[in-house]
Amino acid sequence: MKAARWYSPKDIRVDEVPEPQVTDDSVKVKVKWCGICGSDLHEYLAGPIFIPVGKPHPLSGETAPVIMGHEFSGEVTEVGRNVTNVKPGDRVVVEPILACGTCPACRQGKYNLCSKLGFHGLAGGGGGFAEYTTFSSKFVHKIPDSLSYEKAALVEPMSVALHSLQVGSFQIGQSAIVAGAGPIGLATVECLRAAGAKQIIMIQRKSIRQKYALRSGADVVLDPNEVDVVSEVRRLTGGIGADIAFETTGSEQCYKLALDSIHFSGTLVVTSIWEDEIRYNPNSIVMSEKKIIGSICYNNDFPAVIAMMADGRIKAEGYITKRIALDDIVEEGFKTLTGPAKKAQVKIIVTPDKSLL
Ligand SMILES: [Zn+2]
Ligand SMILES: [Zn+2]
Repeated sequence: MKAARWYSPKDIRVDEVPEPQVTDDSVKVKVKWCGICGSDLHEYLAGPIFIPVGKPHPLSGETAPVIMGHEFSGEVTEVGRNVTNVKPGDRVVVEPILACGTCPACRQGKYNLCSKLGFHGLAGGGGGFAEYTTFSSKFVHKIPDSLSYEKAALVEPMSVALHSLQVGSFQIGQSAIVAGAGPIGLATVECLRAAGAKQIIMIQRKSIRQKYALRSGADVVLDPNEVDVVSEVRRLTGGIGADIAFETTGSEQCYKLALDSIHFSGTLVVTSIWEDEIRYNPNSIVMSEKKIIGSICYNNDFPAVIAMMADGRIKAEGYITKRIALDDIVEEGFKTLTGPAKKAQVKIIVTPDKSLL
């Protein structure tokens, strides 16, 4: 079968590889659509980050080249003999987590905090940029007919966003700031809207992404180059500041603006992955008892996202900006998302099945 494999930075190849075989506890999935994620782009430009090179991943036992792709939907074609939750013909999404099941975090059910955490589609053992993949049945979720395979490829990034609301203890009726209208920022806006935010304020510099933010459900977009974000947020929130903020950009400027725009006792949730250290004076949280908390992946968030996407509470309209064939993944996918026109793209989804294009 065909699969896109990462060899080294800027070297991803569509190769012919053997088709994976089911084990007693795994499920074989015929991939329909798989999204290209920001972490895939980091691996492409500056990897390896999550990809095992030299030393095998402790859970997959594999090293590069590895098959990529972790945001995918597909149809079950075969199941192992111990599998009872899905059967051939079922429409599914895969929660692409490799967790050991025995470390202290796993024993508490916090599998997203596993000390050996890996991702199907980065750590080896297969992935969604392929015709078929196999994965542990307990991380395979059925989807209803009302959720298209295309939109189902968005369940994974939406789950990252929904999890960040849970981690930040977001409550109905709160006012929220989201820094950055990239895929995760826009997903956070969608989830806040679905979860009953009173007001959603996006921080985003001038680009087409400002329009995307409004379409996703933001009430207002503030450009830090044009307005004083902190005083503008205060004005928009009756002089007090927002209840909660979500930092999705990984930029020091946005981190500080988001932190300074929440009120006393407010919460800053950090979903972004950072390349560098940042500087700020902790007095900005001491004197106001603000809370800062990180959020990674998802933990039992897939079922809620599937339900909310299936009935339209999470719409994700316009979120998919391009559909391409697996053969074109480098030229039309990775190069587009890292090239001059990248701002216009939100999510590019890839299919190994040209009849779907
Ligand atoms: Zn991802
Ligand atoms: Zn573990």
